[in-house]
Amino acid sequence: MAKQKTCALGIDLGGTKTLAAVVDLTTGEVLSSARKRTRANRGQDFVSQRTIELSNAAIEAANLTSPEELVAIGVGAAGQIDRENGVVLDAPNLGVHNLALGTILNKNFGRPVFVGNDVEVAAMGECLFGSGRGYENFVCVFVGTGIGSGIVQNGKMYTGFTGTAGEVGHMTIQAGGRICGCGSRGCLEAYASRTAITKAVLAEIHHGRSSILTDDALGLLKEGDTIIRSGIIANAIQQNDELVIEVVKDAADYLGYGIASVMNFYNPDAVILGGGVIEAVDLLFDTAVHRARNAALSASAQKTPILRTRLGDFSGVVGAAALGAMAAGYNFAAAGK
Ligand SMILES: [Zn+2]
Repeated sequence: MAKQKTCALGIDLGGTKTLAAVVDLTTGEVLSSARKRTRANRGQDFVSQRTIELSNAAIEAANLTSPEELVAIGVGAAGQIDRENGVVLDAPNLGVHNLALGTILNKNFGRPVFVGNDVEVAAMGECLFGSGRGYENFVCVFVGTGIGSGIVQNGKMYTGFTGTAGEVGHMTIQAGGRICGCGSRGCLEAYASRTAITKAVLAEIHHGRSSILTDDALGLLKEGDTIIRSGIIANAIQQNDELVIEVVKDAADYLGYGIASVMNFYNPDAVILGGGVIEAVDLLFDTAVHRARNAALSASAQKTPILRTRLGDFSGVVGAAALGAMAAGYNFAAAGK
């Protein structure tokens, strides 16, 4: 007998991995999930097909008799999104341009589909079921390939005039500094993202600096990776590797200044930090919090909680499922959330 649960499908389409999950909307629990590496170099038909394949796997593993049981489907994609039409406009990390993912998934599964930004959906996941519960106004900052943030205002996502609010990764923190992927210079993510940490470690090794990672400098980036895995960074720090500790502390300092600027400008009820490297590397989190508290103006510096995400890897799929359900008319307030 099929369990009667109110579920939605959440899809997290990130630069590193694609994750699909069936989520119980009353508890935020992930009932089943399926993941594979995102292969941006294979073109966008591959991206859509893999998304469908992983969705089917998650639906099957949740023992749903048919996709009809899903309230809706929600997607968070790492790129610029046309939310109204469900189109991924531009997503260089996914190798996708003008992809009508909403239409494709709707045709395949016959359910309403909402497509949003990856950071936006992750922030919503934390808002409803994670560290953001109990806070009306907060900012989630995610450190990964880049640095993005989601702004929750009065319990709802604030996306801004052109839908692009929260680009903390492109706040200028160093005039005339390192060149950033956006074409500008001195952006936060050129200093504190996992990409920046990777570049700094590899550059130092290349210049002859010794590190326990030296022997494995080429093996550090496994096939398809553009960034050193969080586990490798955490392990090097545990083994007291001077180079990695120095690079991570530097990155954390910049991240802390960025967070302090967010606190000064927005005075949120809380700041929530997420992303694999934040979860795995205590030194990064602790140093960034310390720096943020030192650099922010005193009232907010002392009082504002700075937390880690609670849902970890699942923030995105849970939030995507929730936003999908909301867009389809599901009311979390009426359901007791
Ligand atoms: Zn930039």
